[in-house]
Amino acid sequence: AVRTRIAPSPTGDPHVGTAYIALFNLCFARQHGGEFILRIEDTDQSRSTARSEQDILRALKWLGLNWAEGPDIGGPHGPYRQSQRSDIYRQHINELLDKGHAFRCFCTAERLAELRAEQIQNKQTAGYDGHCLHLSESELEQRLTEKQNFVIRMKVPQEGECVFEDRLRGEIRISWQQIDMQVLMKSDNLPTYHFANVVDDHLMGITHVIRGEEWINSTPKHLLLYQHFGWQAPQFCHMPLLRNPDKSKLSKRKNPTSINYYRDMGYLPEALTNYLGMMGWTMPDGREKFSLEEMQAVFNIDRVSLGGPVFDIAKLNWLNGKYMRENLDTESFAEQFAAWAFDAEKLAQIIPLVKERVERFSDVIPLAGFFLSGQLPVTAESFSHKQLSAGQCKELLQLMAWRLEELAEWNKQAIEQACQHLAAFNGIKIRDALFPLFVAITGKAVSVSVIDSIYIIGLDVSRARLRFAIE
Ligand code: ATP
Ligand code: GLU
Repeated sequence: AVRTRIAPSPTGDPHVGTAYIALFNLCFARQHGGEFILRIEDTDQSRSTARSEQDILRALKWLGLNWAEGPDIGGPHGPYRQSQRSDIYRQHINELLDKGHAFRCFCTAERLAELRAEQIQNKQTAGYDGHCLHLSESELEQRLTEKQNFVIRMKVPQEGECVFEDRLRGEIRISWQQIDMQVLMKSDNLPTYHFANVVDDHLMGITHVIRGEEWINSTPKHLLLYQHFGWQAPQFCHMPLLRNPDKSKLSKRKNPTSINYYRDMGYLPEALTNYLGMMGWTMPDGREKFSLEEMQAVFNIDRVSLGGPVFDIAKLNWLNGKYMRENLDTESFAEQFAAWAFDAEKLAQIIPLVKERVERFSDVIPLAGFFLSGQLPVTAESFSHKQLSAGQCKELLQLMAWRLEELAEWNKQAIEQACQHLAAFNGIKIRDALFPLFVAITGKAVSVSVIDSIYIIGLDVSRARLRFAIE
């Protein structure tokens, strides 16, 4: 039976690209009467967070992209979180070592850096040179007794090509010389993406790997692992990546990419899912508005077109408006609007900010309405200030946008510190540095705490407002 999966790494906000790939996996599985599952790929311990995992699961559920097995609901092939599968990887890496398909590499970071520098200088392809490939038995023993650090790498053929079929692209040929002797296990005994991904896809019975085209060049490594283990490889299908309207790869610097942004801005999940279904795909009858069930019923992956699909907010807005008018009667509109606007979690954050400043409920909206808005009616005049020129205001906003992006953690202290550093760095008073932020974020020069506001509306909406104010 067909089994597909989405395998997100919980290292950031839930990306619309993840939802797009999940949607196509889900439709493919359902169309074949199969199963779609979810696995969390958290092998990068330094970048993975529980918060990101929760956000990704919540976002996919919000879009109606439900899985049959996953870390939240379990299933027969669990655990579905890679950090809980260490024993499985250890067992499998030993098998590869025993069969001679992998080797221990003791090269130090310094040696690898030198090698890299040399390769760059000689304009050679970067990659491991096989230094530890043929250590003698005794040398190996000795290094192990000395407890030297090592990683485990896979052996890769020195010549020839890897040839494989991609469901959408046909035959793909990649020379083995371009394939690095990939690290499979890091010195901390944790697997890399490539290794864990293949072991899990096999053990979880995945029959079709449908993923973004950025993984095409990794596929030879994956196929080689299947071969080394003597496993049948799944079918591969590499989907075109989403693009900005200028055709570059969709990136958060040009377009909001977080699903949370679309939820916070009041898009309907059915409309967003429908829109993602239009990325590289069309209904056989050309209809643009369709439900997930309708898409699933007639889905045919071979009709995916490879010309980079453009994720165009204007088009999404049009479709979302259509859903609002055609799918929601007054009652359900009122109900859904109230649920969105008066979200209990959000209100619990906003009320303490406004409570001290109001005398009547009717004062709340004028003060806090910006929490419920998209772009604010900010113009060049909004930025007139005694000390700062319009140019300086824009510059401060741009610097602020960069600093917010670099925050390791999203909390009030971190945002406040970023503001203080920015003021100190530019030799201006914090009050003056905050002025353009107040205007861009709250729409007014004076409002409730702008730092709390940034924290509450989140990075994506903040970024969109800063960008709007700068442009
Ligand atoms: P950015 O350029 O915005 O920083 P990124 O590639 O760094 O994007 P990640 O956070 O690394 O984004 O990606 C999260 C997930 O979203 C990954 O699974 C990735 O495959 C997917 N993704 C990112 N960009 C795209 C895209 N343009 N189209 C489809 N999927 C994407
Ligand atoms: N964890 C990978 C990602 O985040 C999965 C890639 C794959 O589907 O093989 O994109």
